[in-house]
Amino acid sequence: MLRCEDTMAHSLNSGIWSTSPLYQNAVKDLDMAGKVMGIDPNVLERLKIPKRAMCVAVPIRMDDGSVRVFEGYRVQHNMTLGPAKGGIRFHPEVNLSEVSALAMLMTMKCALVGLPLGGGKGGVRVDPRQLSRAEQQAITRRYTMEIISMIGPEKDVPAPDVGTDGQHMAWMMDTYSMAKGYSVPGVVTGKPIEIGGSLGRGESTGRGVVFVIEHAIELMKKRGTWKKDLKDATAVVHGFGKVGAVAANELYIRGCKVLAVSDFYGGIYNKNGLDIAAVQKYMDQNRKLEGFPGADAVTNEELLGLQCDILVPAAIDGVITMDNVKNVKAKLISEGANGPISSDAQQYLEEHGVFVVPDILANAGGVIVSYFEWVQGLQSFFWSDDEVNKRLASVMKDAFDRVAAIQEKYKCGMKTAALISSVERVSKAMLYRGLFP
Ligand code: GLU
Repeated sequence: MLRCEDTMAHSLNSGIWSTSPLYQNAVKDLDMAGKVMGIDPNVLERLKIPKRAMCVAVPIRMDDGSVRVFEGYRVQHNMTLGPAKGGIRFHPEVNLSEVSALAMLMTMKCALVGLPLGGGKGGVRVDPRQLSRAEQQAITRRYTMEIISMIGPEKDVPAPDVGTDGQHMAWMMDTYSMAKGYSVPGVVTGKPIEIGGSLGRGESTGRGVVFVIEHAIELMKKRGTWKKDLKDATAVVHGFGKVGAVAANELYIRGCKVLAVSDFYGGIYNKNGLDIAAVQKYMDQNRKLEGFPGADAVTNEELLGLQCDILVPAAIDGVITMDNVKNVKAKLISEGANGPISSDAQQYLEEHGVFVVPDILANAGGVIVSYFEWVQGLQSFFWSDDEVNKRLASVMKDAFDRVAAIQEKYKCGMKTAALISSVERVSKAMLYRGLFP
């Protein structure tokens, strides 16, 4: 029989983990889920602090001959269900607390969609846009070498995140493989196809974001809170990177009018809808959206408050807070980024009838196909694009239905419902395995 663990853990009071708003929000959300579901408090306390973390210096020689040292982190939040899984972020705001919060979200995400994986995250505090390709390669390789004792196909498997892509994963895989003396493709996911990547991985997060929009519309129609078909709706996408650009395109090919998209520098808006294929072409050529013909310039802040049916915040965390939540007009939000909406703002939106599909569900497509990539690599047997997408759609539909059922049962928000589903799974596994020693 499952039973509580012997000793009562102490509450998270301060410390290095909780300095970022993202971490504070993640703990707040966890507490809320714990309260609603009535979870064993000992398990909840354990989930509030990551299992382990490594902080490293990443010194590299810059193109001008000087040496610069960057801060790097890798955090493993929980590994009860399997190896840690989660991306590597290159961003100037990266710090231990933020990476820890993101690792916690990965634990919840993997558990929610039923993967045999724990939660991890890593990052280097650097603005990759200021670095040459050679400098980025040097950072990636040195960082990989510094954290090499932590990672491995059975231990902890990194993937792309904000500021990194398949090329960074290829350098990580090569560095790890050089150290081992043989090729180890399973050490990372999100690799280029040529070195063991999976078909459909690149599009998986953005696709998943749109799958859950479709499920949410269906559910809201049943509940009588939504009338339009997706093809008659309007959408705004914050971010036009690995997630936002794919989500915008998936909405566009379903006939939805994508009114605005944005990048780091600002957004472009056309009240009649943007031609997303043309926007992508422009972005590929110019590396920024600014100046796209036939659209007005908007700031990122203005974009979040545009009149539209659907909003996809797909850039970075903390963009919708109590400071600007009142401007949001959308009735359906699918969180493409991790943590784009603060806990208070999330509650405000739900109290005002906005249906929010939370990050750990909405953007889980990426880690789901990462898992497929890892499985395919371990078996050296690769699936077709069609098979990857069918399996992705089915895992996401099951997770969405489970979360919607929990939401109805507990009469809570979607975020709380998603966390309840995750915590149920992780906590059962933790209780079965027991506390060591
Ligand atoms: N960085 C992505 C995320 O936040 C993907 C992680 C992975 O594939 O391991 O979900």
